[in-house]
Amino acid sequence: MTHLHPVAGHEEPRRVLARAHATGGLPGAILLHGSRGVGKQRMALWIAQLQLCERPGPDGPCEACRACRLALGLEHPDLHWYFPLARPKGVGGDRLGDALEAARADALIELRARPLRPSQADELRGLYLALVHGLRKRALQLPSESRVQVFVIGDAEYLVPQEASPEAANALLKLLEEPPAGTRFVLTSSEPGRLLPTIRSRSVPMLLSPLATERVAAFLVEHAAADEPTARRAAALSQGSIGRALGFLPDGDDPGPAEALRREALRIVEAALAPDRGRSYLTALEFPVAGARTLVELFGHVEEWIRDVAALSSGARDRILNADAITHLEKLLRDSPLEASRVAASMPALEQARELARGNVNPQLVVSGLVRRLRRELGAREAVVGGG
Ligand SMILES: [Zn+2]
Repeated sequence: MTHLHPVAGHEEPRRVLARAHATGGLPGAILLHGSRGVGKQRMALWIAQLQLCERPGPDGPCEACRACRLALGLEHPDLHWYFPLARPKGVGGDRLGDALEAARADALIELRARPLRPSQADELRGLYLALVHGLRKRALQLPSESRVQVFVIGDAEYLVPQEASPEAANALLKLLEEPPAGTRFVLTSSEPGRLLPTIRSRSVPMLLSPLATERVAAFLVEHAAADEPTARRAAALSQGSIGRALGFLPDGDDPGPAEALRREALRIVEAALAPDRGRSYLTALEFPVAGARTLVELFGHVEEWIRDVAALSSGARDRILNADAITHLEKLLRDSPLEASRVAASMPALEQARELARGNVNPQLVVSGLVRRLRRELGAREAVVGGG
């Protein structure tokens, strides 16, 4: 049986939760928040295991009893893990719920086989009403073998963002308001600001902070088969998030998904800063259409590159995230000077591009629009043209 990797870090929240559980004071609905990939889902599963464990200790679940072993293998019948899924194609009406349950079962098989996956913002997924109905039906039944059943709801801000109806959220809300006896919830969110206020107010929030870089690197060596230098490089870019770091690990001969996006993002920033106007158009044309699913994440990297260029131009080298690219950024700045003060003006352009990406607009249009606005807001070109 495959096993979930141990929880990395977050010792203090775990201590607090274990103590609360031991005294019967664990909230019935907990909302874990914190940046993407910081370990919220893993922690949520740990909280579920804590409540299912037959002999929990002062530091948490025993890790050895039958319930713990089943939970660690994602096979405990009273541990229900829900997360956003892509909407099955060509299925509607009554069959959608079944199709989503089947997709969830497939995803769980995949997760059992390969629990470590890079975190990814994916706006084309959703927690659909049909899925929440399935969850509700299950919650109204008694637990199978434990005294409680625990529902982990990952990325809860994805509750039907694509459907113009708050029904799914309301169905979940009713459960949170009046949970059937023995039913517990752990929700997670990287963007708690996008959660319905009513869901926020009915759960007890707990923040998971970024991990130390050394901790992330050690984890990659121990659990992701990374060598020391590769692990350290990925950890340096991770902002304390293991899920983010995993995306920077090479995938065979190819760069990892986050590394590929980071490079793509640099090309966008270069196009925006390039004196040659035609380049912005070319960059947009070259952008792979398949990238639509990851646009929001891509724009996150664009923002980081812009902030790095600004930090470099104002001499704040210690604030640079993409520290491995400093030489390259210095050359970029020499060719296209950028005033640090212009950076704030460019942020609304990024925010608008993110909104468009969430609306599932043609990615080439979004990217070319972004490059054009960045050219205008960053203002470097006009100075060069005017000066020359
Ligand atoms: Zn146990």
